[in-house]
Amino acid sequence: VVEPDIGTIRAAGITLADVGGLAEVKKRLELSFLKPLRNPELRLRFGKSLRGGLLLWGPPGCGKTLVARALAGELGASFYEIGLSDVLDMWIGSSERNLRAIFDTARRNRPCLLFFDEIDALGQKRSQLRGGGSALRGVVNQILAELDGASTDNDGVFVLAASNHPWDIDSALLRPGRFDRTVLVLPPDTDAREAILRFHLRGRPTDRIDLAKLAKLTDGRSGADLALICEQATEVAMDGSLTAGRLEPITQRHLEDAARAVRPSIGEW
Ligand code: ATP
Repeated sequence: VVEPDIGTIRAAGITLADVGGLAEVKKRLELSFLKPLRNPELRLRFGKSLRGGLLLWGPPGCGKTLVARALAGELGASFYEIGLSDVLDMWIGSSERNLRAIFDTARRNRPCLLFFDEIDALGQKRSQLRGGGSALRGVVNQILAELDGASTDNDGVFVLAASNHPWDIDSALLRPGRFDRTVLVLPPDTDAREAILRFHLRGRPTDRIDLAKLAKLTDGRSGADLALICEQATEVAMDGSLTAGRLEPITQRHLEDAARAVRPSIGEW
């Protein structure tokens, strides 16, 4: 058997505690996946299967990929991130073959979480496709076949997808048994921003930082923006340490300067 080359197959290594904010999202994942997994007797009693797909949607950089990795960590599942380029192929029929290989590998490596990034690009509304779109029609149909084909045994295969533009997704992909649960991943509120900043500064040398104030100053920033702010402040502090010849920690000033320099990336979403 030839294992498809689908980029990273990695143990997730992180948990939901590493995700700042997003309390509703976490609650949803607990209900749909974690509680059923951790309570097998009750699950059997209720006849709940351990499969099912979930769509995470919302503006870029707010933690969709992070949440998927964290869920894999909680499930003890390997994590496969599937991008467009892992599936699409210029040769007719190859994309379907790639998809089949991806799902076969996932089934051989259960428990396993498949994460389809940018599912809107793969699963575009078939009605919107013309010309070059005929290749994508096959892709949508193959995803449907893999998700709920009669002969497929997907127990222990968790399928998550992410989209910034869920309205572009073929509605066939959103029907029951497919990506039937949708969870909105919103930009972080003040408390969530504080948690995210704390997470990204964890273990770094800091001096008298007022995270609550910083959280207020960073209204409108995504998790990715906050990660970048911490990175930039860290670079400046490291540079200062090199010049001073001794460890100069990250200060409130470094972080506030970085917060001003990093523009909100969510913008026109
Ligand atoms: P895209 O739609 O662009 O793929 P995304 O929603 O999948 O974005 P992620 O890739 O999960 O966003 O987030 C990018 C980075 O931003 C993460 O690796 C992490 O460092 C940081 N980040 C985003 N949201 C959070 C969060 N809630 N808690 C902690 N870090 C976060």
